[in-house]
Amino acid sequence: RMGVAVDYFDPLQPEQVEAGMRPETRIVYLESPGSLTFEVTDVKRVAEIAHTRGALVVFDNTWATPLFFKPYEHGVDVTVHAATKYLGGHSDLMMGIVTSTPEIHPRLRQGVQDLGMSTSPEDCWLVLRALRTLEVRLQRHMASGIRIAQWLQERPEVARVLHPALPDDPGHALWQRDFKGASGLFGLVLKPCSREAVAAMLNGMKLFGMGWSWGGYESLLIPTFPQKTRSATEWQVEGPCLRIHVGLEAPEDLITDLEAGFARLGAAA
Ligand SMILES: *Cc1c(COP(=O)(O)O)cnc(C)c1O
Repeated sequence: RMGVAVDYFDPLQPEQVEAGMRPETRIVYLESPGSLTFEVTDVKRVAEIAHTRGALVVFDNTWATPLFFKPYEHGVDVTVHAATKYLGGHSDLMMGIVTSTPEIHPRLRQGVQDLGMSTSPEDCWLVLRALRTLEVRLQRHMASGIRIAQWLQERPEVARVLHPALPDDPGHALWQRDFKGASGLFGLVLKPCSREAVAAMLNGMKLFGMGWSWGGYESLLIPTFPQKTRSATEWQVEGPCLRIHVGLEAPEDLITDLEAGFARLGAAA
């Protein structure tokens, strides 16, 4: 409607950005790790390519938050966050945040004014309050998330765990180079099993809710279907995909809940 055309690229192949740049390309838009499949992008490399061609880099930093990834140290021009997630942290507000380098800021500010964007004082206050505990919350999300990811890796029902903090993850080296931590959101691929078996697992979870948003205190577990939205690459998987958000509950309790879930999955299969 606004005359914007979009091409997609493989987040693991920065050369595709180079090949895909058109004379009119203005923005290269990135998210890392990827929301469903958790590929880690070489942001610095993509930013070099974009800048050589006069385009800006916009980066969605919702997963890492400003504590675990510093976009402006990697060549990013504009950063967006869903403050609904970790920055709010308590599943009680919706907000987006956009920041930029000083060079871009006047245009950004003008755009915000022209579009009439605003947010309520109460939501701002809730986010300011939640920022005071962001660091301790994230440490807990990270530690519990890694512990549960490692536990999942050992499960016979699991084909793969998609978590860049795991040493054998394809994105681990880049994650280690660029990130200061991991949040509690990651993916897993089950070995082939029926839709009914996955439903039996998910429908009976006691502590894990089903919800698309994440970053709050509570754990979530949902099925995902990356193959349906993929266009630049083909998503080849062994079986059903799940996305897990590890909240602030005791990790032993979450493991007990998952264990019971796998028992239901096995019984239904
Ligand atoms: C959820 C999400 C958004 C959008 O957040 P809203 O609060 O729903 O506007 C943007 N980016 C990422 C990576 C997200 O996970």
